[in-house]
Parts: sequence; C-alpha cells; structure tokens
Amino acid sequence: MDDSSIPLPEGQGITNDTAGNTADNNATNGSDTFVLPGDFIGTTEEFRAGAQTYEKTGGVYAAITGTVRVNTARRLVSVIPCTDTPPVLERGDVVIGQIVGLRDSLAMVTIAGAKGVVDREIPNVGSAVVHVSNVKRAYVKDIAHEFGIFDILKAKIIDLNNMRLDTSEPEMGVMKALCSNCRTAMVRHDSKLKCPECGRIETRKLATGYGTGII
Ligand SMILES: [Zn+2]
Repeated sequence: MDDSSIPLPEGQGITNDTAGNTADNNATNGSDTFVLPGDFIGTTEEFRAGAQTYEKTGGVYAAITGTVRVNTARRLVSVIPCTDTPPVLERGDVVIGQIVGLRDSLAMVTIAGAKGVVDREIPNVGSAVVHVSNVKRAYVKDIAHEFGIFDILKAKIIDLNNMRLDTSEPEMGVMKALCSNCRTAMVRHDSKLKCPECGRIETRKLATGYGTGII
C-alpha cells in the first residue's frame, strides 16, 4: 500500500507524521496544509474529491480557502473552511491573510484564517494592517520590496484593537507570491524569489515556510 502523504500545491512533499499517530478508530487525518480556491491538492488517481473540492483534468482542487483533510481509508480528500467561522482572535495568534493594498508605511491584509484556532467561535474579522516598522527586524526602506499585492502572508497579531500584524519573526512573512509580470507562483531563489515562467526576480520578506503550503 502507498503511504498517505499529501501532495502540496507547490508540488513538494509533506512530512508523513500524520500517518502514524492518529487514533485507530479515526481514519481521517488532519494537516496544516493551507489551500486557496483553485490550489492543486492531488491527482484523481490518489484521491477522490470530497467536500469543498472539485476534479478537473485528472486533478483534485480546493474550492474554498481552508485546510486539507484526508480520509486515508476512503481515499477521500476535502477542505475544511477557515472563513465560514471566523475565530475569536487573540493577541499573539498567527493568522493567514492576503495582501490587498500597499501604502507608504502600511500593508493592508484580508485575513483568511487563523492557525490552530478554528474551533473558537466568532466575530467578524476582516482586515488588518502591517505597519512598516513591524515587517522585519531590519530597517525597511520601501514596503513594496517586502510585500506584493495578492501575496499570502503569515503574521502574528500584536494589536487586536487596531488589528495590527507583525511579520518580523523568521517563520512569519510571505508564504506564497505571484509574479507581478505574469502571475505565476514564484519559487525561492537564494534569498529572493524567481518566476519559473518569465525569470523575473522579486524580493519579499519571506517566511521560512515559503512555498511549502504548511502553516
Ligand atoms: Zn513571471
């Protein structure tokens, strides 16, 4: 039998520790693999499309924003939504969001989900900001060198009232970025990003987990 590793959107492997440590009577494996609508989850040879996924040309894709859940016994893959039940966020929580705007000293972020707090209930959390002073530990001359529109960001909440986020820790920062020239997902190239399609080089405040899809 194959193992139950989960192919990631970027085509990289995930560690296999979910396979061995689940309870015997529970065949459903959770993971921290975070997906956006349209992200590739696996092939139809590996998985059947479950809740909040769809099949297209031999692949299973995420229909919503959320985390991947695999039922290994039934080979069924589904996506558990983060956005349907916005959690009660607390200071120090780690959130995933998308950059929707850049100004001189601020990046505007729409929060898509929070790590590890999906069971908490509710109010509406929408947007947040990263101030230029909270981007990284070094001085930031131009925030546009650190973030790009549509980037997926992992950040820590430092101020709940004003919904201010911080990305200065190594594991915080940009998790996924699209080429500003051709919209292809960029890959890490030394300390920068390179577009595999057109070769464009861009800079970001990268999270250590860039491109892994693991939050
Ligand atoms: Zn490109």
